[in-house]
Amino acid sequence: MNVKDSEHIIAELSDEYEITSDKSQADLMIINTCSVREKPVNKLFSEIGVLKKYKKPSAKLGICGCSASYLGQELMKNSAVDFVVGARNVSRIKEAILTNGVFTDIDYDDTTYIFKQYRQNKFKDFVNIMIGCDKECTYCIVPKTRGKELSIPLDIIIKTISDLVDDGVKEVTLLGQNVNNYGRRFSISHPKVNFTKLLQEVSKIDNLERIRFTSPHPLHADDEFLEEFANNPKICKYIHFPLQSGSNKILKLMKRGYTKEWFLDRVAKLRQIKDVTISTDVIVGFPYEEEEDFADTLDVVQKAGFEQMFSFVYSPRPLTKAQEYPLVDKQVAKNRLYRLQELQKEIMLSKTQDQIGKRHKVLFERYHQRKLFGKSDNFYSVEVQSDVDLSGQIADVMIVDARHSTLIGKI
Ligand code: SF4
Repeated sequence: MNVKDSEHIIAELSDEYEITSDKSQADLMIINTCSVREKPVNKLFSEIGVLKKYKKPSAKLGICGCSASYLGQELMKNSAVDFVVGARNVSRIKEAILTNGVFTDIDYDDTTYIFKQYRQNKFKDFVNIMIGCDKECTYCIVPKTRGKELSIPLDIIIKTISDLVDDGVKEVTLLGQNVNNYGRRFSISHPKVNFTKLLQEVSKIDNLERIRFTSPHPLHADDEFLEEFANNPKICKYIHFPLQSGSNKILKLMKRGYTKEWFLDRVAKLRQIKDVTISTDVIVGFPYEEEEDFADTLDVVQKAGFEQMFSFVYSPRPLTKAQEYPLVDKQVAKNRLYRLQELQKEIMLSKTQDQIGKRHKVLFERYHQRKLFGKSDNFYSVEVQSDVDLSGQIADVMIVDARHSTLIGKI
């Protein structure tokens, strides 16, 4: 979502500014921030220090994104910072620059605002389908930085994607904190449309070849949605399915709303889909996590056999319920993370080797030194030797080898 927010910011400013790689020449500097863990927030302050050295006296420096949302006015105490724009206020970027303003209203609604287009990749793009989040996961700051959940009207989404396709885009990734909760609330009077219906409507767009989405919430992974995912030929067979913990006790403390059994049942249904790949997020060392809770997480990871995992030691975040909970010993948490990642390495290695001999549809995105680089339908990075540049095309590729997580193939 931050990547798309950055692209929206660039697009909105493109009539007045162009991008420079020389910091000392910049008239405007913007740091777009995350706040989901503590580390990116610390990086923000070191980055302000770096940019300060290059900043021309006439230049402006702005802080945007989730950390901007909750630090707000506090950031203006830093003499280098000229304006602040929260994650929910991206459409107000020009106003903030002009007025040296601080816009961090998490109730601000730009669901009907049509952003200008800018994208780094010619053949694919992200498309926001909702903003904010109504969940109350006890470790998560996002509802306090991106506000309440609002869905973007269907006709705006369809028009945005149709315009992208007319401009050569083959693949879109639908974005939201809980995409499969789409349609729960619109800011304007709007016919009832759920995520399954949205997928059906998007897939009717001529010349759009591939649809991805991120992230779905396991709680809302009902049969209707999973069947659409399985049977709609335009939907890529890769899903990010955030587990967070395998222990029912910890899932309850996290307020995730599902159990280990529900999660595994959904994964079993997903595994019936040919060549599907599943990635996940896991938080290790959440407050009150004991060895038997961690054993449950290892058990789910083993049974689910995720193709990819993003795993971290829990870090308490401001404005969250869990920040009041007692911390697990740091060394114990680190040791658990190590054990989890060792298990995942083994799983990933065998999963990647299993791809050898399979045939995948690959969208090529780049041609360099007589090699094509792209992504398979199920989200593996694929490399192919070729005398011709087939960037922007989808081809059938036979996988002949695997290096780390990259597959080597032949057309
Ligand atoms: S679903 Fe939970 S983890 Fe995801 S953004 Fe919302 S509160 Fe955060």
